[in-house]
Amino acid sequence: MKFCSKCGTVLKLDAKKKLYVCQKCGTKEQMEGEIVIPRNNKGQDKIIVIGKKERNLSTLPQTKVKCPKCDNAIAYWWMVQTRGIDESATQFFRCTKCGHTWRDYT
Ligand SMILES: [Zn+2]
Ligand SMILES: [Zn+2]
Repeated sequence: MKFCSKCGTVLKLDAKKKLYVCQKCGTKEQMEGEIVIPRNNKGQDKIIVIGKKERNLSTLPQTKVKCPKCDNAIAYWWMVQTRGIDESATQFFRCTKCGHTWRDYT
């Protein structure tokens, strides 16, 4: 559970926008973690939550993929289980240079 930093009200989670929203004063706060499933563990139910810190520490695997924003050729990648555990995970990329994040639609 998360509380509003301004007024202390319990924040409501908007999963789609990955934001916590305060119903009282309208403050929005970013979700701290994402549910990440590494590709190697796809067959298992193991779920790893990567927080802001870890993501900044460059611990994610890298792959050769072109950033749509700055044309850099290397990006970090991770898998996110968006819906049910049985559904296929979505692959996300983050540019090592400009930090742009995008998802793989293929
Ligand atoms: Zn508030
Ligand atoms: Zn980039």
